Amino acid sequence: MLHALEAWLRATAVRIHEQAPVLTALDQAIGDGDHGINLDRGFSAIVAMLDARPPAEPDTTDLAATAELVKLVGRTLISTVGGAAGPLYGTGFLRAAGALAGLPAETTPSSAIAFVTALEAAATGIGALGKSTTGEKTMLDALVPAVAAARAALEAGAPTGAVVDAARDAAASGAAATVPMLATKGRASYLGERSIGHQDPGATSAALLLDVLAGVLADVTA
Ligand code: ADP
Ligand code: MG
Repeated sequence: MLHALEAWLRATAVRIHEQAPVLTALDQAIGDGDHGINLDRGFSAIVAMLDARPPAEPDTTDLAATAELVKLVGRTLISTVGGAAGPLYGTGFLRAAGALAGLPAETTPSSAIAFVTALEAAATGIGALGKSTTGEKTMLDALVPAVAAARAALEAGAPTGAVVDAARDAAASGAAATVPMLATKGRASYLGERSIGHQDPGATSAALLLDVLAGVLADVTA
């Protein structure tokens, strides 16, 4: 799992870098045009952290090592990404780390239950920090439907790959559904009615993160 987590983080850094102009253009329409730059800086710092990281202690469980790495990702985002997205995503990763660490020690970190637990904790933590909920044209409009779809797939007995695919699909639809929304949180809310008609940058990046994860898991299990 550590391998898959690391593969996801590295693949995300590549995709964020490629998509930074798109995310920035979305943020130019309803924000200050830095979302792509912000995330690119954060994920470059994550790659640097991965490159510099010593190997895990031999007696650490896979779950504990995974939670520890997820926590480091959160800290890296908080310390390197400015704006709203850094603290929000960073807090999401910190909450996910805490939730993973709280699972029974024998839980496989790559299990569907671990993924759903982590994603749910991330979305809840972001909503708490941002005092936000769905329908406000934020990253939560991608993340909350993703949690619901992932949980439904988990409860239907789907394996990890299918659970992540369900989350990915729901996040993509959720991001698209932000276009007609009126922003009531973050910088986009300053625009009032003029925020309508543009896709939210944070919802777009959240969908991207899950799309990369689904792709990495498809490769790992192929
Ligand atoms: P900033 O708005 O400070 O320039 P970014 O451009 O990096 O930061 O991120 C903007 C994104 O952050 C928005 O598109 C939105 O998805 C998300 N966001 C902003 N405020 C909130 C909030 N209160 N709750 C959840 N997400 C938010
Ligand atoms: Mg911005």
